[in-house]
Amino acid sequence: MESIKSKIRTVPNWPKEGIMFRDITTLLKDKEGFNFMIDKLVERYKNMDIDVVAGIESRGFILGSVLAHRLNLGFVPIRKKGKLPAETVSEEYELEYGKDVIEIHKDAISEGQNVLLMDDLIATGGTSLAACNLIKKLGGNVVECSLIVDLPTLKGRKKVEDAGYKVFNLVEFEGE
Ligand code: AMP
Repeated sequence: MESIKSKIRTVPNWPKEGIMFRDITTLLKDKEGFNFMIDKLVERYKNMDIDVVAGIESRGFILGSVLAHRLNLGFVPIRKKGKLPAETVSEEYELEYGKDVIEIHKDAISEGQNVLLMDDLIATGGTSLAACNLIKKLGGNVVECSLIVDLPTLKGRKKVEDAGYKVFNLVEFEGE
């Protein structure tokens, strides 16, 4: 996993002072790194009886759609409010300042489907938890919430686990 971690760039003070932004674009552009990371996820999920992969806008789209394709499954986007054209269900969650809303198409997941949720990173856990709740609202079973990076200092993983969901990540960065 060190090879994956070493390919993730840290941009200090972006998008604002005090944030250490963990930028996966440097991992994505590296063909060995990208392949290795997706191979690890395929290995983990190929026998888990998953019906569909859902990804959170926008880095979760890149990872989730590639993974879905490799697992021979379909892909469902979870998007910021107002972007999906058909009927949606939505979930509000807390940001550091204020609130945000994510949405999923109402017919994207059917009752009892096993759904793998994919995003790039878990920080406070608000985004991942809201996405898990959306899947649950549609009757889906969240097999796991899967991330490349966890920032354990922010305890987001615990927050999502305490709500009853399984969480998996490939690497961790201490400090925000
Ligand atoms: P949170 O809801 O606090 O867990 O934030 C997770 C979402 O915000 C993910 O979609 C990440 O892409 C993004 N994010 C939050 N903090 C960072 C960070 N330090 N570096 C990169 N992305 C971040």
